[in-house]
Amino acid sequence: METRLRGVGVSHGVAIGEVRHLGTAVLDLPDRQVPPAEVPREVARARRAAEAVAADLRARGNLAGGEAQEVLEAQALMAIDPELLADVERRVGVGATAERAVSDALASYRALLAGAGGYLAGRVADLEDVRNRIVARLLGVPIPGVPDSEEPYVLIARDLAPADTALLDTRLVLGFVTEEGGPTSHSAILARALGVPAVVALPGAREVAEGTVVAVDGSTGEVVVAPGPKRRAELAEEAAARRAALSRVTGPGVTSDGHTVPLLANIGRPGDVAAALDAGAEGVGLFRTEFLFLESGRAPSREEQAGVYREVLSAFPEGRVVARVLDAGADKPLPFLTPGDEPNPALGVRGLRALLDHPEVLAAQLGALADAAEGLPVHLEVMAPMVADRADARAFAEACRAAGLHAKAGVMVEVPAAALRARALLQEVEFLSLGTNDLAQYTFAADRQVGGVARWQDPWQPALLDLVAMAADAAAAEGRSCGVCGEAAADPLLACVLAGLGVTSLSMSPGAIAPVRAALRKHTLAQCERAAAAARAADGAPEARTAAHAVLSGE
Ligand code: PEP
Ligand code: MG
Repeated sequence: METRLRGVGVSHGVAIGEVRHLGTAVLDLPDRQVPPAEVPREVARARRAAEAVAADLRARGNLAGGEAQEVLEAQALMAIDPELLADVERRVGVGATAERAVSDALASYRALLAGAGGYLAGRVADLEDVRNRIVARLLGVPIPGVPDSEEPYVLIARDLAPADTALLDTRLVLGFVTEEGGPTSHSAILARALGVPAVVALPGAREVAEGTVVAVDGSTGEVVVAPGPKRRAELAEEAAARRAALSRVTGPGVTSDGHTVPLLANIGRPGDVAAALDAGAEGVGLFRTEFLFLESGRAPSREEQAGVYREVLSAFPEGRVVARVLDAGADKPLPFLTPGDEPNPALGVRGLRALLDHPEVLAAQLGALADAAEGLPVHLEVMAPMVADRADARAFAEACRAAGLHAKAGVMVEVPAAALRARALLQEVEFLSLGTNDLAQYTFAADRQVGGVARWQDPWQPALLDLVAMAADAAAAEGRSCGVCGEAAADPLLACVLAGLGVTSLSMSPGAIAPVRAALRKHTLAQCERAAAAARAADGAPEARTAAHAVLSGE
């Protein structure tokens, strides 16, 4: 029987497919005592499971290539480590089940790694994953973590952290549904980056059984569970019609009366460049550089970084590419860079703060960007995340100069203090870029990873729009640019409002460019300004959206 659920739609489009769950790592270990006569059989069972897991990890590595392959190879070696298997055998010999023996043997390894600190401590999660895989295989239950499917599916999870998705074969993911998370959580960002529909903050999503067909509408936030064949066909048809209408509008970002608002892409790795070019992005407004560091678990060398950056820069000859220096900490912890013991990491040493504590990492990254841009006609710009005051902006500008970078230096406005003092920041740097995801988090004291506070992460909140206006006005007064690179830019109606507030460019996941382009093309700048004024005059996010919609649809 068809049922409907509603969450928050955060990435456009409709996906129809079978549900797969991102498993949680709760595995019940059988606690029976293995009689001596069964020991050889139990040991063989443990070995077979470990070998099968190693083979599977290798196969996934071959598929993934690059850094991911190295991680998976290392995990495969962990699974069949001779010392580990000897330890398992010893434990089974004294009566433990294969599941219990594997789990306990890996737990003692884990303690060793964690105690070693540094890079080795960073491998604890990999070991945990190996343990889960072997134990799940022994129990005959789905492997916790990334689904093991060869068919495309709709992924349901509590929420997705960057580490969860590193091993996801994204070609198979038709869409996402999460119980937690808000419009700016990583699930939402990842879904937009992949151009697949997503609905977040949907309580009870994980109760939808594995294998059930669902239709996910990322525009309305509706998830239809078990739709009948007729309904499925209707939904697919609607989605195709929407896509066809959008593909008819092409060209740069501009309002109907010719006010230009360049449409740029948010990318997270060179592999995203193709989608950005396909979408007609006029450049890159946010190149998140975290992946290089997150995937290798260490600071990559200047040369390694330069090679990757050059791949991105050479894809936009004459275009503008804004690279953001490493934004570690909070939801992107890096054990070698950020403190692991902060009570509230989102308010701790993250972003520029962590880099200023490790100036050698910042210098290497800026040097790598300078090397990468050498001899290319691209307009490289560099910006820092999590800048709170003028001293931060000055320190970043000085680091850029010291690295010999011939690129504009700018700062992200993600902390309310930076919006309030935007003019002062612009005495030190040359442009602003509004990170509305974090700006909402910090303005409303609402963790962007917590579904229960999604209401306050809504970028339509008038207080957030006030801060955007403040930063845009400051930039205009200083003759500088002020773009938006947070997820707010990906909402077509809000994009018009942002243009009306005076932002000078909009940067978003490539999949969002077409709907935003089409929306801007329908309205004059004056209409966008009226919509912006109406939204700011509202009392809450839903009212702001309704007010802007009323102005722009001429109601
Ligand atoms: C933001 O905070 O709006 C932003 C663009 O940065 P990130 O989402 O990577 O924190
Ligand atoms: Mg941010």
